[in-house]
Amino acid sequence: MSKPVEFIDLRAQYASLRPSIGTRIQAVLDHGQFIMGPEVRELEDKLGSFVGAECITVSSGTDALLIALMALGVGPGDEIITSPFTFAATAEVIALVGATPVFVDVEPDTANIDVRQVSAAISDRSRAIMPVSLYGQPADMAEINAIAGERGLAVIEDAAQSFGAVYQGRRSGALSTIGCTSFFPSKPLGCYGDGGAVFTSDAKLAAIMREIRIHGQERRYHHTRLGVCGRMDTIQCAVVLGKLERFEWEIEQRIAIGNRYLELLSGLGAIQLPVVRPDRTSVWAQFTLQSEGRDRVAASLRDHGIPTAIHYPIALHQQTAYRNLCRVHGSLSVSERLAERVLSLPMHPYLDPAEQQRVVESLGKALR
Ligand SMILES: *Cc1c(COP(=O)(O)O)cnc(C)c1O
Repeated sequence: MSKPVEFIDLRAQYASLRPSIGTRIQAVLDHGQFIMGPEVRELEDKLGSFVGAECITVSSGTDALLIALMALGVGPGDEIITSPFTFAATAEVIALVGATPVFVDVEPDTANIDVRQVSAAISDRSRAIMPVSLYGQPADMAEINAIAGERGLAVIEDAAQSFGAVYQGRRSGALSTIGCTSFFPSKPLGCYGDGGAVFTSDAKLAAIMREIRIHGQERRYHHTRLGVCGRMDTIQCAVVLGKLERFEWEIEQRIAIGNRYLELLSGLGAIQLPVVRPDRTSVWAQFTLQSEGRDRVAASLRDHGIPTAIHYPIALHQQTAYRNLCRVHGSLSVSERLAERVLSLPMHPYLDPAEQQRVVESLGKALR
């Protein structure tokens, strides 16, 4: 029996990065600055030059989105336009600051927000558009920025899944007023706990977000605004620094493995494959296809030892928590249909060709 296929193989990654991650963590244990130690600024400098915008690390991807909204002064009565086909955190933070998520449907092939429907969803209460770069592929940021520019709105990219992706020659995270990402362990660049970052090229917003992250302090015990406890631990920054050594290689692997899936699966007519637009890359946080009878296919794959996941089984406007907190713009039928059809296959930079072949063969059998 061959070794089981992992959905995301963090152990294989650790095995190949063990010395650099270990050395980095040990350095923190030795200097003892567990909060705002030197690794925090080092990571911010490295990620800032990688992305091409100022980086501020924060306690999670969710807190990145929350801090971005707080920095823009979003509050009760405001509306934020986003998509309902995403992880709950996207809408959660909007509701937490007292604003209303306005849901616009997504495109059937990329599952990203359908930019053709955004203009009509704007009201005089709109403050920002919050596109999600789902599964690792940036949304239509140029068109979204153009609409936002005309209407005086900010744009916050939820880049929790797309860190490392490129859109029209620029990195995800640097494509809008503020970009937010997550270092949750299973994301394309993950730490060993919770972590995240905000990115911006607006020096004023950057200064505000630095304050909000640390209880609204301008300097110690001088609180100029309402903030949160939003720092990323030094140890988690050290882990990301260790992982950065192979990150560009990992992105190349992700793209190669994604392309190999597209090639190997192109013959299987019963499924709809994910689409990447020509002016951008996907880092394949998830490799997510669509299939009729998705649950039956997933069960059959499980029987063949192939783990799968569903991102996401229920659109947010249909969730109990958000049903009465959101405004729905037009039909959300594409999101509802995707929730019934999507299935994510094992995807990580250490998936070898033989394992991938097994996934593909098992899927072929499951579809028969
Ligand atoms: C993971 C994720 C988040 C939240 O990130 P955390 O670090 O888990 O708080 C937000 N939005 C999207 C689209 C995500 O995938």
